[in-house]
Amino acid sequence: MNGLGDAIKKLDNGWLQVKVPLPFSLKWVNAYLLPERSEDGNGWTLIDPGLRTEEIETFWTYALEELGIGWRDIRSIVLTHHHPDHYGMAGWFQRRTGAPVWMSRVAKENAARLWGEGETFSSELTQAFIRHGLAEELIGDMREHMSGFVAKVSPQPMDVRFLQVGDTHRMGGIEWDILGGEGHAPGHLLFYEGKGGKLLCGDQVLPRITPNIGWMPNGDPDPLGSFMDSLRLLLPVEVAMVYPGHRDPFPEYRERIGELLEHHERRLAKMAGMLKGGEKTAFEMCELLFGEKLRSNTHNLRFALAETIAHLEYMAKRGMALRIEGAADSEGKIASIRYQEADNIG
Ligand SMILES: [Zn+2]
Repeated sequence: MNGLGDAIKKLDNGWLQVKVPLPFSLKWVNAYLLPERSEDGNGWTLIDPGLRTEEIETFWTYALEELGIGWRDIRSIVLTHHHPDHYGMAGWFQRRTGAPVWMSRVAKENAARLWGEGETFSSELTQAFIRHGLAEELIGDMREHMSGFVAKVSPQPMDVRFLQVGDTHRMGGIEWDILGGEGHAPGHLLFYEGKGGKLLCGDQVLPRITPNIGWMPNGDPDPLGSFMDSLRLLLPVEVAMVYPGHRDPFPEYRERIGELLEHHERRLAKMAGMLKGGEKTAFEMCELLFGEKLRSNTHNLRFALAETIAHLEYMAKRGMALRIEGAADSEGKIASIRYQEADNIG
Protein backbone atom coordinates (compact mmCIF):
# COMPACT_ATOMS: atom_id res chain seq x y z
CA MET A 1 0.00 0.00 0.00
CA ASN A 2 1.09 3.47 -0.87
CA GLY A 3 3.77 4.65 1.55
CA LEU A 4 2.58 2.20 4.16
CA GLY A 5 4.70 -0.72 3.02
CA ASP A 6 3.17 -3.92 4.34
CA ALA A 7 1.82 -2.27 7.47
CA ILE A 8 -1.73 -3.35 6.67
CA LYS A 9 -2.57 -6.99 6.32
CA LYS A 10 -5.93 -8.34 5.38
CA LEU A 11 -6.43 -11.50 7.44
CA ASP A 12 -8.27 -14.57 6.12
CA ASN A 13 -11.24 -13.87 8.35
CA GLY A 14 -11.83 -10.41 6.88
CA TRP A 15 -10.17 -8.51 9.73
CA LEU A 16 -7.42 -6.02 9.16
CA GLN A 17 -4.17 -6.25 11.08
CA VAL A 18 -2.59 -2.81 11.17
CA LYS A 19 1.05 -2.76 12.26
CA VAL A 20 1.21 0.61 13.96
CA PRO A 21 4.86 1.70 14.16
CA LEU A 22 6.49 2.21 17.56
CA PRO A 23 9.59 4.20 18.46
CA PHE A 24 10.75 1.34 20.73
CA SER A 25 12.56 -1.92 20.13
CA LEU A 26 9.13 -3.59 19.90
CA LYS A 27 8.85 -2.13 16.36
CA TRP A 28 5.08 -2.23 16.06
CA VAL A 29 1.85 -2.77 17.93
CA ASN A 30 -1.03 -4.58 16.26
CA ALA A 31 -4.27 -2.73 15.91
CA TYR A 32 -7.08 -4.91 14.63
CA LEU A 33 -10.04 -3.65 12.65
CA LEU A 34 -13.07 -5.94 12.80
CA PRO A 35 -15.89 -5.31 10.31
CA GLU A 36 -19.29 -4.44 11.75
CA ARG A 37 -22.48 -4.89 9.79
CA SER A 38 -25.66 -3.30 11.01
CA GLU A 39 -28.92 -1.87 9.67
CA ASP A 40 -27.65 1.67 10.02
CA GLY A 41 -24.62 0.98 7.83
CA ASN A 42 -21.40 -0.95 8.02
CA GLY A 43 -18.44 0.08 10.12
CA TRP A 44 -15.49 -1.14 12.13
CA THR A 45 -14.39 -1.91 15.65
CA LEU A 46 -10.86 -0.74 16.32
CA ILE A 47 -8.76 -2.66 18.84
CA ASP A 48 -5.62 -1.16 20.46
CA PRO A 49 -4.90 1.82 18.19
CA GLY A 50 -1.31 2.52 19.32
CA LEU A 51 0.89 5.16 20.90
CA ARG A 52 0.06 8.80 20.20
CA THR A 53 2.77 10.66 18.34
CA GLU A 54 2.58 12.95 15.34
CA GLU A 55 4.08 10.25 13.14
CA ILE A 56 1.44 7.78 14.23
CA GLU A 57 -1.37 10.32 13.69
CA THR A 58 -0.08 10.72 10.13
CA PHE A 59 0.24 6.98 9.77
CA TRP A 60 -3.38 6.41 10.76
CA THR A 61 -4.68 9.25 8.60
CA TYR A 62 -2.99 7.69 5.56
CA ALA A 63 -3.96 4.16 6.55
CA LEU A 64 -7.68 4.94 6.86
CA GLU A 65 -7.64 6.92 3.62
CA GLU A 66 -5.96 4.00 1.89
CA LEU A 67 -8.56 1.60 3.29
CA GLY A 68 -11.46 3.87 2.42
CA ILE A 69 -12.51 3.98 6.07
CA GLY A 70 -14.04 7.27 7.20
CA TRP A 71 -13.67 8.52 10.78
CA ARG A 72 -17.34 7.91 11.47
CA ASP A 73 -17.03 4.33 10.21
CA ILE A 74 -15.16 3.50 13.40
CA ARG A 75 -18.03 2.49 15.69
CA SER A 76 -16.15 1.47 18.79
CA ILE A 77 -12.65 1.39 20.22
CA VAL A 78 -11.67 -1.56 22.39
CA LEU A 79 -8.53 -1.77 24.51
CA THR A 80 -6.93 -4.91 25.87
CA HIS A 81 -4.96 -2.91 28.45
CA HIS A 82 -3.82 0.58 29.39
CA HIS A 83 -0.18 0.52 28.25
CA PRO A 84 0.57 3.62 26.15
CA ASP A 85 1.43 1.64 23.00
CA HIS A 86 -2.15 0.29 23.04
CA TYR A 87 -4.14 3.03 24.79
CA GLY A 88 -2.29 6.13 23.58
CA MET A 89 -4.35 6.86 20.47
CA ALA A 90 -7.74 6.00 22.01
CA GLY A 91 -8.67 9.57 22.90
CA TRP A 92 -7.39 10.94 19.60
CA PHE A 93 -9.58 8.46 17.74
CA GLN A 94 -12.54 9.18 19.97
CA ARG A 95 -12.38 12.88 19.13
CA ARG A 96 -12.51 12.11 15.42
CA THR A 97 -14.94 9.21 15.41
CA GLY A 98 -17.22 9.89 18.37
CA ALA A 99 -16.86 6.19 19.17
CA PRO A 100 -16.99 4.94 22.76
CA VAL A 101 -13.83 3.45 24.26
CA TRP A 102 -14.24 0.08 25.95
CA MET A 103 -11.74 -1.16 28.52
CA SER A 104 -11.60 -2.67 32.00
CA ARG A 105 -12.26 -0.48 35.01
CA VAL A 106 -8.86 -1.40 36.44
CA ALA A 107 -7.14 -0.40 33.20
CA LYS A 108 -8.90 2.97 33.31
CA GLU A 109 -7.90 3.47 36.94
CA ASN A 110 -4.30 2.70 36.04
CA ALA A 111 -4.34 5.15 33.15
CA ALA A 112 -5.61 7.79 35.59
CA ARG A 113 -2.95 6.86 38.12
CA LEU A 114 -0.13 7.08 35.59
CA TRP A 115 -1.18 10.05 33.47
CA GLY A 116 -4.08 11.70 35.29
CA GLU A 117 -4.22 15.26 36.61
CA GLY A 118 -1.71 15.73 39.45
CA GLU A 119 -0.31 12.22 39.12
CA THR A 120 2.23 11.15 41.72
CA PHE A 121 3.18 7.90 40.02
CA SER A 122 6.39 9.18 38.38
CA SER A 123 7.87 10.16 41.72
CA GLU A 124 6.56 7.00 43.42
CA LEU A 125 8.25 4.87 40.78
CA THR A 126 11.49 6.83 40.83
CA GLN A 127 11.52 6.67 44.64
CA ALA A 128 10.92 2.91 44.55
CA PHE A 129 13.70 2.45 41.99
CA ILE A 130 16.10 4.40 44.20
CA ARG A 131 15.26 2.08 47.09
CA HIS A 132 16.02 -0.78 44.74
CA GLY A 133 19.47 0.64 44.05
CA LEU A 134 19.00 2.67 40.84
CA ALA A 135 22.31 4.47 40.18
CA GLU A 136 22.00 8.12 41.15
CA GLU A 137 23.12 9.50 37.81
CA LEU A 138 20.14 7.79 36.16
CA ILE A 139 17.46 9.28 38.38
CA GLY A 140 17.01 12.47 36.38
CA ASP A 141 16.61 10.54 33.14
CA MET A 142 14.00 8.31 34.70
CA ARG A 143 11.85 11.26 35.86
CA GLU A 144 12.08 12.84 32.43
CA HIS A 145 11.26 9.57 30.77
CA MET A 146 8.14 9.09 32.89
CA SER A 147 6.74 12.56 32.33
CA GLY A 148 7.32 12.18 28.58
CA PHE A 149 4.53 9.63 28.36
CA VAL A 150 1.67 12.00 29.16
CA ALA A 151 1.85 13.50 25.67
CA LYS A 152 1.86 10.05 24.16
CA VAL A 153 -1.53 9.19 25.65
CA SER A 154 -3.19 12.59 25.24
CA PRO A 155 -5.92 13.52 24.69
CA GLN A 156 -7.29 10.79 26.92
CA PRO A 157 -10.72 9.31 26.13
CA MET A 158 -13.74 10.91 27.83
CA ASP A 159 -16.47 8.41 26.98
CA VAL A 160 -15.15 5.20 28.53
CA ARG A 161 -17.35 2.12 29.03
CA PHE A 162 -16.31 -0.81 31.11
CA LEU A 163 -15.79 -4.43 30.15
CA GLN A 164 -15.65 -7.12 32.77
CA VAL A 165 -14.01 -10.51 32.93
CA GLY A 166 -16.73 -13.19 32.68
CA ASP A 167 -19.03 -11.01 30.57
CA THR A 168 -19.37 -11.19 26.81
CA HIS A 169 -18.82 -8.42 24.29
CA ARG A 170 -20.02 -8.32 20.69
CA MET A 171 -17.61 -7.13 18.00
CA GLY A 172 -16.94 -8.13 14.41
CA GLY A 173 -20.18 -10.10 14.42
CA ILE A 174 -18.85 -12.37 17.15
CA GLU A 175 -19.96 -12.75 20.75
CA TRP A 176 -16.63 -12.81 22.62
CA ASP A 177 -16.02 -14.22 26.07
CA ILE A 178 -13.99 -11.76 28.10
CA LEU A 179 -11.07 -13.41 29.88
CA GLY A 180 -8.58 -11.78 32.23
CA GLY A 181 -4.81 -11.93 32.48
CA GLU A 182 -2.65 -10.40 35.19
CA GLY A 183 1.05 -9.72 35.65
CA HIS A 184 1.79 -7.80 32.46
CA ALA A 185 -0.79 -5.09 33.07
CA PRO A 186 -3.44 -4.91 35.79
CA GLY A 187 -6.94 -5.45 34.42
CA HIS A 188 -5.65 -6.84 31.13
CA LEU A 189 -8.45 -8.33 29.02
CA LEU A 190 -8.43 -11.09 26.41
CA PHE A 191 -11.25 -11.83 24.01
CA TYR A 192 -12.05 -15.42 23.22
CA GLU A 193 -14.33 -16.97 20.65
CA GLY A 194 -14.81 -20.66 21.34
CA LYS A 195 -16.32 -21.86 18.08
CA GLY A 196 -13.42 -20.77 15.90
CA GLY A 197 -10.84 -20.86 18.69
CA LYS A 198 -9.88 -17.21 18.20
CA LEU A 199 -8.07 -15.38 20.96
CA LEU A 200 -7.36 -11.66 20.87
CA CYS A 201 -4.84 -11.62 23.66
CA GLY A 202 -3.15 -8.21 23.80
CA ASP A 203 0.26 -8.67 25.41
CA GLN A 204 -0.59 -11.59 27.71
CA VAL A 205 0.86 -14.17 25.32
CA LEU A 206 3.29 -12.97 22.64
CA PRO A 207 5.26 -14.92 20.06
CA ARG A 208 9.05 -14.61 20.37
CA ILE A 209 8.77 -11.69 22.81
CA THR A 210 8.53 -12.32 26.54
CA PRO A 211 5.79 -10.03 27.85
CA ASN A 212 7.24 -7.63 30.37
CA ILE A 213 6.24 -8.27 33.97
CA GLY A 214 4.73 -5.01 35.13
CA TRP A 215 5.93 -4.39 38.64
CA MET A 216 4.79 -1.04 40.09
CA PRO A 217 5.04 0.48 43.58
CA ASN A 218 1.69 0.16 45.38
CA GLY A 219 0.46 -2.17 42.68
CA ASP A 220 0.28 -5.96 42.50
CA PRO A 221 3.03 -6.99 44.96
CA ASP A 222 3.65 -10.25 43.08
CA PRO A 223 3.08 -9.61 39.37
CA LEU A 224 5.27 -12.51 38.23
CA GLY A 225 3.22 -14.89 40.37
CA SER A 226 0.04 -13.36 38.92
CA PHE A 227 1.41 -13.67 35.39
CA MET A 228 2.33 -17.32 35.77
CA ASP A 229 -0.99 -18.12 37.50
CA SER A 230 -2.85 -16.39 34.66
CA LEU A 231 -0.95 -18.37 32.05
CA ARG A 232 -1.74 -21.62 33.85
CA LEU A 233 -5.43 -20.66 33.96
CA LEU A 234 -5.39 -19.74 30.27
CA LEU A 235 -3.53 -22.89 29.22
CA PRO A 236 -6.56 -25.22 28.87
CA VAL A 237 -8.46 -22.76 26.63
CA GLU A 238 -8.91 -24.29 23.16
CA VAL A 239 -7.21 -21.84 20.83
CA ALA A 240 -6.66 -22.29 17.10
CA MET A 241 -5.28 -18.82 16.37
CA VAL A 242 -3.82 -16.19 18.67
CA TYR A 243 -4.08 -12.52 17.65
CA PRO A 244 -1.36 -10.86 19.74
CA GLY A 245 -0.56 -7.23 20.47
CA HIS A 246 2.89 -7.49 18.88
CA ARG A 247 4.31 -9.60 16.02
CA ASP A 248 2.02 -11.74 13.86
CA PRO A 249 -0.94 -14.00 14.62
CA PHE A 250 0.19 -17.54 15.46
CA PRO A 251 -1.41 -20.92 16.14
CA GLU A 252 1.06 -22.42 18.68
CA TYR A 253 -0.83 -21.25 21.75
CA ARG A 254 -0.09 -23.93 24.36
CA GLU A 255 3.52 -24.34 23.22
CA ARG A 256 4.06 -20.63 23.64
CA ILE A 257 2.54 -20.58 27.13
CA GLY A 258 4.80 -23.50 28.02
CA GLU A 259 7.84 -21.61 26.75
CA LEU A 260 6.94 -18.48 28.69
CA LEU A 261 6.51 -20.43 31.93
CA GLU A 262 9.82 -22.20 31.34
CA HIS A 263 11.56 -18.92 30.58
CA HIS A 264 10.57 -17.52 33.97
CA GLU A 265 11.46 -20.73 35.81
CA ARG A 266 14.92 -20.63 34.22
CA ARG A 267 15.34 -16.95 35.04
CA LEU A 268 14.36 -17.60 38.68
CA ALA A 269 16.90 -20.43 38.96
CA LYS A 270 19.59 -18.24 37.42
CA MET A 271 18.82 -15.41 39.83
CA ALA A 272 18.90 -17.76 42.82
CA GLY A 273 22.37 -18.76 41.64
CA MET A 274 23.44 -15.14 41.33
CA LEU A 275 22.43 -14.41 44.91
CA LYS A 276 24.88 -17.09 46.08
CA GLY A 277 27.60 -14.59 45.25
CA GLY A 278 26.34 -12.28 48.01
CA GLU A 279 23.42 -9.95 48.69
CA LYS A 280 22.43 -7.56 45.95
CA THR A 281 20.00 -4.82 45.08
CA ALA A 282 17.51 -5.30 42.26
CA PHE A 283 19.48 -2.77 40.21
CA GLU A 284 22.70 -4.74 40.64
CA MET A 285 20.87 -7.90 39.62
CA CYS A 286 19.34 -6.08 36.68
CA GLU A 287 22.73 -5.01 35.37
CA LEU A 288 24.09 -8.52 35.79
CA LEU A 289 21.13 -9.92 33.87
CA PHE A 290 20.74 -7.36 31.11
CA GLY A 291 24.13 -5.67 30.95
CA GLU A 292 25.32 -2.11 31.53
CA LYS A 293 24.18 -1.04 28.07
CA LEU A 294 20.78 -0.50 29.63
CA ARG A 295 22.08 2.69 31.21
CA SER A 296 21.90 4.43 27.85
CA ASN A 297 18.28 3.42 27.22
CA THR A 298 16.00 4.68 29.99
CA HIS A 299 12.93 3.04 28.45
CA ASN A 300 14.50 -0.42 28.44
CA LEU A 301 16.11 0.17 31.83
CA ARG A 302 12.75 0.98 33.39
CA PHE A 303 11.17 -2.22 32.13
CA ALA A 304 14.21 -4.37 32.88
CA LEU A 305 14.40 -3.07 36.45
CA ALA A 306 10.66 -3.56 37.04
CA GLU A 307 10.98 -7.07 35.66
CA THR A 308 13.96 -7.83 37.93
CA ILE A 309 12.10 -6.54 40.99
CA ALA A 310 9.11 -8.72 40.01
CA HIS A 311 11.34 -11.79 39.95
CA LEU A 312 13.03 -10.95 43.25
CA GLU A 313 9.70 -10.28 44.94
CA TYR A 314 8.41 -13.60 43.60
CA MET A 315 11.46 -15.31 45.12
CA ALA A 316 11.11 -13.49 48.43
CA LYS A 317 7.45 -14.41 48.72
CA ARG A 318 8.22 -18.10 48.16
CA GLY A 319 11.29 -18.41 50.34
CA MET A 320 13.68 -18.56 47.38
CA ALA A 321 15.38 -15.34 48.51
CA LEU A 322 15.46 -13.13 51.56
CA ARG A 323 14.42 -9.50 51.27
CA ILE A 324 16.36 -7.15 53.54
CA GLU A 325 14.98 -3.68 54.15
CA GLY A 326 17.51 -1.19 55.40
CA ALA A 327 16.47 1.61 57.74
CA ALA A 328 16.60 5.22 56.56
CA ASP A 329 19.79 6.71 58.00
CA SER A 330 20.03 9.89 60.03
CA GLU A 331 20.86 11.99 56.95
CA GLY A 332 17.48 11.04 55.52
CA LYS A 333 19.00 8.79 52.90
CA ILE A 334 16.32 6.49 51.51
CA ALA A 335 16.20 3.01 53.04
CA SER A 336 17.47 0.49 50.57
CA ILE A 337 16.12 -2.93 49.71
CA ARG A 338 18.51 -5.81 49.13
CA TYR A 339 18.03 -9.49 48.46
CA GLN A 340 19.99 -12.38 49.85
CA GLU A 341 20.34 -16.07 49.20
CA ALA A 342 17.55 -17.87 51.07
CA ASP A 343 19.88 -20.53 52.52
CA ASN A 344 21.52 -17.85 54.64
CA ILE A 345 18.43 -17.69 56.83
CA GLY A 346 19.23 -18.83 60.37
ZN1 LIG B 1 1.55 -4.02 27.24
